[in-house]
Amino acid sequence: MKRAAVVGAGIGGLTSALLLNRQGWDVTVYERGSRVGGRIAFEQEGDYRIDQGPTIVLLPEMLLGILEEAGVDRSKVELLRCDPLYRVHYHSGRVMTKKTDRMEQTAEIERLFPGEGRGFTRFMKDMDTLFPAGRAAFLEQMFPRKRDFFTPSLMSLMGKLRAHKSVRKAVGDYFEHEELLDAYSLQSLYIGGSPFGTPGIYSLLPYAEHEYGIWMVKGGYAALPAILEQELLSRGGKIKLNTEVTGLKIHNGVCEGIETADGAEKADAVIYNGDFPNLNQLLKQVSEAPLKRKPYRPSSGCVLIYAGVDKRWEDATTHQFFLPPSLDGSLRQVFNERRIPAKPSFYVFNPAAVDETAAPPGQSVLYFLIPVPDAEGVDWEQESEALAERVLEEAEERGFPGLRAALQWKKVRTPADAARDGLYGGGSFGIAPVLFQSGVYRPQPKPFSKIQGLYAAGASVHPGGGVPIVMQGARMAVNQLMKEMGK
Ligand SMILES: Cc1cc2nc3c(=O)[nH]c(=O)nc-3n(C[C@H](O)[C@H](O)[C@H](O)COP(=O)(O)OP(=O)(O)OC[C@H]3O[C@@H](n4cnc5c(N)ncnc54)[C@H](O)[C@@H]3O)c2cc1C
Repeated sequence: MKRAAVVGAGIGGLTSALLLNRQGWDVTVYERGSRVGGRIAFEQEGDYRIDQGPTIVLLPEMLLGILEEAGVDRSKVELLRCDPLYRVHYHSGRVMTKKTDRMEQTAEIERLFPGEGRGFTRFMKDMDTLFPAGRAAFLEQMFPRKRDFFTPSLMSLMGKLRAHKSVRKAVGDYFEHEELLDAYSLQSLYIGGSPFGTPGIYSLLPYAEHEYGIWMVKGGYAALPAILEQELLSRGGKIKLNTEVTGLKIHNGVCEGIETADGAEKADAVIYNGDFPNLNQLLKQVSEAPLKRKPYRPSSGCVLIYAGVDKRWEDATTHQFFLPPSLDGSLRQVFNERRIPAKPSFYVFNPAAVDETAAPPGQSVLYFLIPVPDAEGVDWEQESEALAERVLEEAEERGFPGLRAALQWKKVRTPADAARDGLYGGGSFGIAPVLFQSGVYRPQPKPFSKIQGLYAAGASVHPGGGVPIVMQGARMAVNQLMKEMGK
């Protein structure tokens, strides 16, 4: 039986392990932490429990379909639909509710921005053909060689998806009002990119929200890794927790296994699921030095506030965005000036709105996410508490009356915490989704042509970050591995 070592039990590692196990491989996952899931984790205090990282489920069919392929029955993961999708609270006082139904969404846009409904209809209609083409081109194939990417058909699709413009400029072909441009480009923040620095291809995201919906996992996203862990163990896979992989055994251009504090272990193939730039440290002794290149740019970071609150807000939706007077200006301070913005934007997760069990009766758990730079250059210890206070005060004024008096528990997490947990540069979403770190320019599931038997899956690897997308990358890595080594 062939043996695979998977380095890391993030969603990419667990998905790879299950897919390989299904192909009859003997799989061991090595995880340096004391639990599986990586970024997908819970924060907990007494009766309060809330997701630490991902909250929004996009592309549910991709997630469930890959789980099924990995042998996990889809009935094991209960997804709850969020409709309305979310609310956008503008500083002007307007509140736009985003909806699944196109007619209702058009009416909502017309109500707030008369004359702009047509732009939405046109956006959705164009994306009806561009999305399937974009998914097939950018999410379902890898680019081992530059020439696999620079084909006439892909270049033409890139043009149609406005890859040469920022996502904010790209949606400007459909909408005029600044607030609508905000509402249809802020999605690049989900993967740590600024709307004015992330290529127009990512306008697939606001389309996908309307077309496939926004969901949440009942019980929290962090319920998912434990399901995969149980499945893998029940099928004979092994998971070694508290076991850091400290090196890779590479001999004559072939990856032959891993090293831990307990010694070396042989494997026919290795899948690396740590944040990709950190792979360098495991390859130090490799003379070919395949990772020699300019340092990668990390994605933005987040200051997160987790709260347990003795109150429920009957009218509040599960997901909400609160925008400052100028989102563009605020994000330029984050991405260009690399500082905490004077007027931050923030996202609020309020799971009790669709999941009654998310908090004790009559109470809530809340999660506030504020986009900030990566870990470097800010004294997080010094700055984060004041920022959290400002955001809680503003959330109270603009959507959660009585919030601060009802607070029972509060915890703040910063990019410095993320960096301590091994996330590259303290960015939350892997390497930044800028043009020269996307598609062919992103590390590939088979990262080095000169090293056989070594594959990679995770947020910093093509096709990129976000749970279903990372799972899709894991699927590509395993398919490539099977193609090369399956026989
Ligand atoms: C605050 C936040 C909010 C997010 N929101 C969303 C969202 O709403 N929706 C969404 O889809 N996505 C969201 N994401 C992104 C999503 O969480 C990630 O894209 C995804 O979880 C990354 O998975 P991964 O496979 O790269 O593994 P990671 O989660 O990075 O896990 C890698 C694992 O490898 C282990 N490891 C690393 N090196 C070694 C080693 N040498 N030896 C042993 N073990 C090692 C680590 O300990 C870790 O457990 C969010 C992320 C964050 C941080």
